[in-house]
Amino acid sequence: MTSDISALDLQSIVIHGDLDLEHPEANDAALAPAIHTASTYAARDGEEFVVMANTPRHPRYYARNGNPTQERCERLLARLENAESALLCASGMGAMSTTLLALVKAGDHVVAQTAHYVGTAQLLNDLLPGFGVEVTLVGQRDPEAFRRAVRSNTKLIVTETPSNPTLVLTDLAAVAAIARERGILTLADNTFASPINQRPRDFGIDLVLHSATKYLGGHSDLIAGVVCGDAAVVESIWKRSLMLGANVSPFTAFLLLRGLRTLPMRVARQCETALTLARFFASHAAIARVHYPGLESHPQHALFKRQMKSGGGVLSIEFGGEVEAGFEAAKRFVVALKLARHAVSLGGVETLVVHPASMWESSLTPERMRAAGISPALVRIAAGLENADDLIADMGRALRGE
Ligand SMILES: *Cc1c(COP(=O)(O)O)cnc(C)c1O
Repeated sequence: MTSDISALDLQSIVIHGDLDLEHPEANDAALAPAIHTASTYAARDGEEFVVMANTPRHPRYYARNGNPTQERCERLLARLENAESALLCASGMGAMSTTLLALVKAGDHVVAQTAHYVGTAQLLNDLLPGFGVEVTLVGQRDPEAFRRAVRSNTKLIVTETPSNPTLVLTDLAAVAAIARERGILTLADNTFASPINQRPRDFGIDLVLHSATKYLGGHSDLIAGVVCGDAAVVESIWKRSLMLGANVSPFTAFLLLRGLRTLPMRVARQCETALTLARFFASHAAIARVHYPGLESHPQHALFKRQMKSGGGVLSIEFGGEVEAGFEAAKRFVVALKLARHAVSLGGVETLVVHPASMWESSLTPERMRAAGISPALVRIAAGLENADDLIADMGRALRGE
């Protein structure tokens, strides 16, 4: 095996990235990892116990601290995101809450975006202020807005690009440069792009976070999250994870590793289909706007070309007409679909469609929804792996109200 797996193409990293080159003797000859279900591991002698208990992230001590199945999956994820280290958590929200609670404390200030995944927005707006952490939200289109929001006590800048569900981009290189000048840590939620389309650390971002539930797992059959970065920072997040307990299950780590083997192929196909769908809707009279960074008409297409390899597997469409008519048309469309499924989440093999204005009625106030740029007439479409012509036939029929 080559001595530098991280230098390989991502297509090869997903196949071999879980190998431990520093301790080749530790690599299991079994190509599929064992699922280590043990909650605890016995020491051979007193000396070994001391080592087990005092080595950070020891994979064979107590399973909340880690386990060999998890470690193998984390090694691959770190290499995929061009990072030294990765920490798996029980969910994307587990990774986000553990990371935030590890990096900021009362008296600190965080800069984040007006548009974030709804759970992240709730953490930033509702949880952190209660712990004495101040949060400033800025429009992500303008990197200077991040600079203006920074204060002397700013510890962290949180970004998400493309953001959910309006596919607005954040200039990662510009934000990373602003933060670096001032010694502020940066975090990018890379769930929507996946490492196949964008690796935030290549633009100077410190920490990369994923809901592994989405593209990384890829089969709508697991919930997990991961944060990747320099070993020292990830170790400090791991220490906090011991207190918060949002650790991943070994079964989930196994399933995730299995899903990751086909990540590049799945994502390539999903992006191709999303672009085909985006072009179809862009030329359809009932649709007023299509949000997809891979379309030449996207207002940030130049940034897209600098930052992303492909437009990703998610697009949003907005129905035309008056507000009430658009809202009703969007609702009618999602329930008329027969092949695409009406379900939350994304990144799986099935095409999933949601109407955010109905979905977030209870968790986002109309003001927050407007601030996040979410129109009542907006429908989010996450491409799966079905044949694109079959999807277009289904969507065309639903648009005609048949
Ligand atoms: C789904 C999602 C999350 C939350 O992840 P869970 O695995 O559902 O906890 C965070 N960020 C983004 C962008 C997401 O799409």
